[in-house]
Amino acid sequence: MICDSYFWLIGLLLGSFLNVVAIRLLKKESIAFPPSNCPNCHHRLSVLDLVPVFSYLFLKGKCRYCKAKISPLYPVGELVTASSLFLVYKVVGVQLELLPAIILTTVLVLAVLTDIREKLILDVITLPAIAILLITRLFIGSEPFWFYVVGGAVGFVLLLLIAIVSRGGMGGGDIKLYAAIGLVLGPWMTLLSFMVASFLGAVVGLLLIVTGVVKRKQPIAFGPFIFIGTLIAYLFGYDVWNWYVSLWQG
Ligand SMILES: [Zn+2]
Repeated sequence: MICDSYFWLIGLLLGSFLNVVAIRLLKKESIAFPPSNCPNCHHRLSVLDLVPVFSYLFLKGKCRYCKAKISPLYPVGELVTASSLFLVYKVVGVQLELLPAIILTTVLVLAVLTDIREKLILDVITLPAIAILLITRLFIGSEPFWFYVVGGAVGFVLLLLIAIVSRGGMGGGDIKLYAAIGLVLGPWMTLLSFMVASFLGAVVGLLLIVTGVVKRKQPIAFGPFIFIGTLIAYLFGYDVWNWYVSLWQG
């Protein structure tokens, strides 16, 4: 139980850090300097302004110094990071596989944050992730190393083909992100991840168009759907697959 609370706390703090990393990488700024400051008035933030989720609620979503609105992406990003890491930790359990699982979850959160803000998934996030996960898979995994390499290749080629066929419906960032996903999930669950992501993306996209929130042909960020599809496939893939097969068997 104490371990659970620590995991939440670390997840919230990591989420807070990832928010900053995403914004600074998009602006091509250093992650370490300058210290956290308000994007509007640049007043340096104190510890009290930086408590995950609580500072946002306590300050009612406004900067303490200039009263500019703070993006709800901050507390939402913190909560999503913490809850997804907690879910991964609970399902995977305390074993070596938790390491690639945490690396992938972190990378996915970063990809979602940059994709929502600027419709971009950055090479500076995906390329190191591919390298680190490749090395991790040399030592950690219930399947042989080549299984994960094939997974990475399947993710990469699948998204590349869709990018070519859809003529830019899928960006280079999505393609490289799927190579990283494949290295953790292996080929089968990578395919399932993409099926779930596409299904959710189509349903939500349709709802947004029907309700007039977005216009037709206006691109929506695919990152959040990749995130959800990948976590579902990685953590519950074999259950989802059995359920899907049972549907067809009547
Ligand atoms: Zn301010």
